[in-house]
Amino acid sequence: MTLRKRRHWVFDLDGTLTLAVHDFAAIRRHLGIPEQADILHHLVDLPATERAAKHAWLFAHERELAVAARPSPGALALVLHLREGGCRLGILTRNARDLALLTLAAIGLEDCFEPAAVLGRDEAAPKPDPGGLLHLADLWQVAPASLVMVGDHRYDLEAGRAAGCRTLQVNQPGDPWPAARDRRFEDCHELLAVLQAGD
Ligand SMILES: [Mg+2]
Repeated sequence: MTLRKRRHWVFDLDGTLTLAVHDFAAIRRHLGIPEQADILHHLVDLPATERAAKHAWLFAHERELAVAARPSPGALALVLHLREGGCRLGILTRNARDLALLTLAAIGLEDCFEPAAVLGRDEAAPKPDPGGLLHLADLWQVAPASLVMVGDHRYDLEAGRAAGCRTLQVNQPGDPWPAARDRRFEDCHELLAVLQAGD
């Protein structure tokens, strides 16, 4: 099926619809997390008190970033185009859901996503787990294969691949994960141009 005919689209948020501002190396340093470790998985394994304190710091830090979020090139036009075309739109983020909603409001897209289709790290197993995408397919009553997953990170593409979705890479220089993506675009602007050209 051509992209233009797809009706169910799921987006990563940070770095995909917004400009990437998270400094994950600095976050790891502040929280005492080893350089290569997955931040969320690392926190899960900590003693309860330390885990709670570090989660609280992470939430406060990410809240500041959410309030100041800026849209990535072409993101607003792409989402509005899909929404006006009657598409169902979801967000699957490793951020907290409340912060995702705050971020969407900050960039003016809060009305484009139905609240039940905005999934954060507490609503679904974090990507690359495909659980969030399977949940959205179930919510929308369609096969996972009819979903499109758009993201800037390997985890977005791997989650999409594992769920059987179409996977599109944006905002990521080069082609670092060719096996995980179906197509790649420089940014949302280029993806929109391809849709408008009838692809
Ligand atoms: Mg991202």
